[in-house]
Amino acid sequence: MRRFGAAENPTFELICVYLNSYNILFERFVFSVHPAYRLSKTFFLCRKDRVIFLNAWGEGMERRKVVIIGSGPAAFTAAIYAARANLEPLVFEGFASGPSGGQLMTTTEVENFPGFPDGIMGPVLMEHFRAQALRFSTKILTEDVVSVDFSRHPFLIQGAQTKIEALSCIVATGATAKRLDIDGAKDGEFWQKGVTACAVCDGAAPIFRGRPLYVIGGGDSAIEEAIFLTKYASRVYIVHRRDQLRASKIMGERALKHPKIEVLWNSTIVKITGDQVVQMVEMKNLVTGQVELREAGGVFFAIGHQPNTAFLQGQLQLNEVGYIVVQAGTTHTSKPGVCAAGDVQDPRYRQAITAAGTGCMAALDVEKWLNEAGHE
Ligand code: NAP
Repeated sequence: MRRFGAAENPTFELICVYLNSYNILFERFVFSVHPAYRLSKTFFLCRKDRVIFLNAWGEGMERRKVVIIGSGPAAFTAAIYAARANLEPLVFEGFASGPSGGQLMTTTEVENFPGFPDGIMGPVLMEHFRAQALRFSTKILTEDVVSVDFSRHPFLIQGAQTKIEALSCIVATGATAKRLDIDGAKDGEFWQKGVTACAVCDGAAPIFRGRPLYVIGGGDSAIEEAIFLTKYASRVYIVHRRDQLRASKIMGERALKHPKIEVLWNSTIVKITGDQVVQMVEMKNLVTGQVELREAGGVFFAIGHQPNTAFLQGQLQLNEVGYIVVQAGTTHTSKPGVCAAGDVQDPRYRQAITAAGTGCMAALDVEKWLNEAGHE
């Protein structure tokens, strides 16, 4: 026997068996139970002249005040703030979509997150975020959200296994590394056989050791990945389409001064070839048009990210490149009661600290919205 929480509104299926002198009749009802009620699995009712035996069962759909989708700095900060406001948040941290913790799980040392003067490893930082969210009564489901229905209220959040009703929702699903459509780089070709989008995840694999490796991109990620790969490679080449890095000055200087890193300016890889794994790349100079065949042990994409918004299926307003649009200075989306935090709504700053900041904002925004909408 259990008492349901105030935020829950479970539905039950009843199979009724009527016993009278002539017949045994079956009836099926679906009904809601007031949260104050206690229910046992089996109980009896009297109805006029009949004794009715009721057997009740069924999984009640759990209802939450706040459901948070994601598991990066934004999601867990939102969870910490929502939990401390007694909103009992439920977090879908994902499963097949990638490791809980988001992009910091594929980063080495984070030097710019305040509070850690000596730096901290990305995965360790995310472990701290998660543990802090759990400390304040956050419930975490390790499954992906496959769809949402924001056209009804309570909103419907459909996980891979679990369906939840949510009075409010915070979307903090982050962004995923982009890939290029190069000949030889696709699934079924050399993707994951020497071509990858995460040096930190894959760089230590034996196939990359002592080989020349190529990182495509000119931003901070490309520099970070290139520096990481110098531990394993014979030499690392940064392949950049322009003659100027996009990376921050300090990161750019580190790469340019590194004895094992060389930048191939105005360049692009047009073809990747090999046997079981990558062996060669065709490098094109975009100014001269010259194509050169070079030995290669691996190719790493570091060309930015795509916001993870596909599961929303057009239910929130997105910008032209797929980021969720929020009202300026807030985390409110185009749907009242749904907020967005972190990289999924931030094409500009995309930092762990800004993601955490917007996670905090989202929790405060939904708390206020719930109060004003009368969903306390
Ligand atoms: P980014 O800053 O957007 O840089 C993407 C790079 O990929 C750019 O150099 C871009 O070239 C290149 N690129 C994009 N599309 C391409 C294409 N189709 N073909 C060839 N090249 C292409 O992305 P990011 O490096 O992932 O960084 C994202 C954010 O995270 C930034 O704000 C960055 O500062 C931050 N970050 C910080 C750290 C750190 O502080 N440790 C580490 C990683 C990332 P163009 O320059 O020509 O546009």
